[in-house]
Amino acid sequence: MGQEYSSGSLISIFGSERFRDDAHTLSKYASSIGGNSLMPCCVVYPIDESEIVALIKLANTDSLQLFTIARGRNFGYGEAQGTHAGQVIVDLSKMNRIVEVNETLAYATIQPGVSQQHLFEHLQKSDSRLQLDVTGAGLDASIVGNILERGFGHTDYGDRFARVVRMTGVMADGSVVKTGFGGFENANAKNTYKYGLGPMLDGLLSQSNFAIITEMTIELMPKPDKTCMFVVSAKDESALPLLVDAIRELKLSGIVNSAVHFANKARAIGEKENRMAGFWNMSGSISGPTDMVMAKKRIVRSALKKAYPKASIWFIDEFMMGLASFVNRIFKISLYQPLKDAWDLQKGIPTDNPLRILLADESLESATIRTGDYQTCFLWINAVCAADGCSVEQLYELTSSLFKEHGYAFPVTFTAINPRSLIMITNINYLRSEDSIAKAHAFSKRCHEVLIQNGYLPYRSGSGAFEETPEYATGTSALLKGIKGLVDPNYTFAPGKYRI
Ligand SMILES: Cc1cc2nc3c(=O)[nH]c(=O)nc-3n(C[C@H](O)[C@H](O)[C@H](O)COP(=O)(O)OP(=O)(O)OC[C@H]3O[C@@H](n4cnc5c(N)ncnc54)[C@H](O)[C@@H]3O)c2cc1C
Repeated sequence: MGQEYSSGSLISIFGSERFRDDAHTLSKYASSIGGNSLMPCCVVYPIDESEIVALIKLANTDSLQLFTIARGRNFGYGEAQGTHAGQVIVDLSKMNRIVEVNETLAYATIQPGVSQQHLFEHLQKSDSRLQLDVTGAGLDASIVGNILERGFGHTDYGDRFARVVRMTGVMADGSVVKTGFGGFENANAKNTYKYGLGPMLDGLLSQSNFAIITEMTIELMPKPDKTCMFVVSAKDESALPLLVDAIRELKLSGIVNSAVHFANKARAIGEKENRMAGFWNMSGSISGPTDMVMAKKRIVRSALKKAYPKASIWFIDEFMMGLASFVNRIFKISLYQPLKDAWDLQKGIPTDNPLRILLADESLESATIRTGDYQTCFLWINAVCAADGCSVEQLYELTSSLFKEHGYAFPVTFTAINPRSLIMITNINYLRSEDSIAKAHAFSKRCHEVLIQNGYLPYRSGSGAFEETPEYATGTSALLKGIKGLVDPNYTFAPGKYRI
């Protein structure tokens, strides 16, 4: 399905250099690491809010559908694809201004095109006392797009949506909405008090198709005096529920505040063999003043040993990582790289390595990658469960038996994103052939169906998979569709996203 668009009208807004409808560009946006293709009609690159407003006016009169991306690095969730073929992709990568970093109050205001690397380098260069939370999606992935999808990171600020203070967005009638205290120009706590006054709108602007977000203020974490990563390996498959229960208690009591990852061996080290890797490999971090970290270390060790006495536990700090790096240069330790990647993520340092490992391409760069060129495809399957041993065990067993039944390898992580919930992320890898792609997508659909029937719902979805998400309850569905009809009666923004 193509849309009737006037390139002349779009060029009059964006100039010819920021409007593209050539086959080479379109194929980049159409293809994805998941293997399917969804051809847009054209791509535009706004540089400010006034261009977005002009685009929206044109879209409403010419019945164009718009799909917004921040940097389009939504790997495994449809990447830069829209919800339907023939849409105008609104690529905000050129709206990449770091509007403010406030050292005293520890926040940053950024535009959607700011990448993880961009903000990281900015903080480094300005010798900031602050660090950001990063995801494993690579240097070029955006911060705003990920947060809008309620993605998660690895540090104490890993629950990223919880760190949003306010947003600015353009609605489908061209009006500008500011959440929190953002709409009160003289509000003293505009960038620090997220609740504002009256109903909170931020939730409605995430995982939705109600607005184009042009600015976001997020909290940044003061760099701790000391970070100590804990790495735990457990040889027994049955250790998972025991460790999950222990981590829940450590997080509930505030001893551990970082996201904690439980990776099976296939996820942690792939096909390689290493006798230090267990069936389950857990990592998280404790950070803060040195004395506090040392005290917490003792508590973590004893809680984990009590829960699972056979656990092997290592605590790794800056000094140990330096030593490991030195030894690795001479002896090449196979576990060094996975440890270093986990360490970097815990310290808020973005890296392309997880992507490189996934696509088996050591020289890959997230900034220039064309995923359609790879013979390897993959897609994510995810689900949320309560952080108790029984739930995690049931979710693990359900999913692993589905994978086994269909002959897919089963790399999986469970991430304790908050004290009370875990997010399971697994993926299937397959070849870029028509048959394997069709089989993979059918499997993903089946898997989500079974998980949903059992109460394990996805935490996010993406292009091509929104139909796999569960129906909302009647009242909720009516409310969301009612809001959509009110704020975007022509369904100009991403129709069908999250079933709205
Ligand atoms: C190896 C690997 C590791 C990964 N690790 C992680 C991880 O640790 N955590 C995680 O959460 N994800 C992870 N991902 C998944 C994904 O790549 C990231 O979530 C990535 O950050 C999303 O891409 P982006 O930030 O460029 O967002 P985009 O693709 O730009 O945006 C994502 C979606 O948000 C919406 N959107 C974006 N900008 C706007 C806007 N301004 N207004 C309105 N809507 C907007 C759109 O629907 C868009 O499709 C990983 C993927 C891979 C392959």
